[in-house]
Amino acid sequence: MQKGTHLLVTGGAGFIGSHYVRTLLRCADVDVRTVTVLDKLTYAGNLANLADLAGDDRLRFRQGDICDPGVLDALMPGVDTVVHFAAESHVDRSIEDSGAFLRTNVLGTQSLLDASLRHGVRTFVHVSTDEVYGSIEHGSWDENCPLRPNSPYSASKASSDLLALAGHRTHGLDVRITRCSNNYGPMQHPEKVIPLFVTRLVDGLSVPLYGDGSNVRDWLHVEDHCRGIELVRRAGRPGEVYNIGGGTELTNRQLTERLLVATGADWSSVRPVPDRKGHDLRYSVDCRKARDELGYRPLRDLESGLAATVAWYRDHPDWWRPLGTDPLPRTAPSVALTGTAH
Ligand code: NAD
Repeated sequence: MQKGTHLLVTGGAGFIGSHYVRTLLRCADVDVRTVTVLDKLTYAGNLANLADLAGDDRLRFRQGDICDPGVLDALMPGVDTVVHFAAESHVDRSIEDSGAFLRTNVLGTQSLLDASLRHGVRTFVHVSTDEVYGSIEHGSWDENCPLRPNSPYSASKASSDLLALAGHRTHGLDVRITRCSNNYGPMQHPEKVIPLFVTRLVDGLSVPLYGDGSNVRDWLHVEDHCRGIELVRRAGRPGEVYNIGGGTELTNRQLTERLLVATGADWSSVRPVPDRKGHDLRYSVDCRKARDELGYRPLRDLESGLAATVAWYRDHPDWWRPLGTDPLPRTAPSVALTGTAH
């Protein structure tokens, strides 16, 4: 194996994973020798997300399941760093049926940790979520707060965090965990709230707002998140957790208002729908540890980041129309549904 870092990126054909691969390959000062993407290509995985990188001979793609030890044993020799994004990621789907969430998020993470130990992987970056902390009405969670997940999705992610930390404490594996807030940006699957709303509004269709719209989320541009993960990979400490936030909290009503303005629509396009079961009121992470230890701070302000994101979806119907998994019929604006803030 040639010198330099050999990375395995799981879930690298998904939303954040593909942006991360781009961050790795486009950053001139990163000593990246190879990036192998392992992705099952579920409904959420999309090779079009990596199309602009196809000419880079450092990038390899393998379709496969992180739960399959045979696949991992074939890919792991020579890999020194794993960055683990692969997951079932949609809360509403986990409420409908949690089986795939436990299989991929819990058992898949365990299988990846075991393979990393078998093959002498040096560093394992586990990408997690602020949702593992549960809901917080006031203040912000730091990394020492207890995990109180409420949805099957966040419970499965919390379980994977604990397995990853156990891999460090029991086996001495250099595991680093990131817990980020809600990501937004280009190439996010249109089941998630921002692309769902934008793609419907540009088509003149209605959008569903959960409950009274008072739930608060902190929005983080996906490129800021990827920079944060890179800081953790390169300078984080083994066995440590780092919160990564955007510093821009909005209620879902405020977010909806911004998306209406950005698409030239108004509140007549919004239909209140019954609230999500167990809907967490507010997430908020304290990012002082990542700031003080690693120099992390978000660079994209929400106003320009959101405007650029809306423009991207408006300009790329060829990317999102074929996905065809919008939970709402696109011709029947009066049907109620389940839109979600992640
Ligand atoms: P995504 O759903 O867009 O992508 C997930 C990717 O994982 C897809 O490409 C899918 O094909 C792949 N995958 C699923 N199961 C697999 C398996 N068994 N084996 C191999 N590949 C598999 O998700 P995302 O939004 O990019 O999220 C990436 C990670 O970041 C997840 O771990 C998620 O929990 C975490 N996260 C996301 C957000 C957010 O706002 N999107 C916020 C916090 C944390």
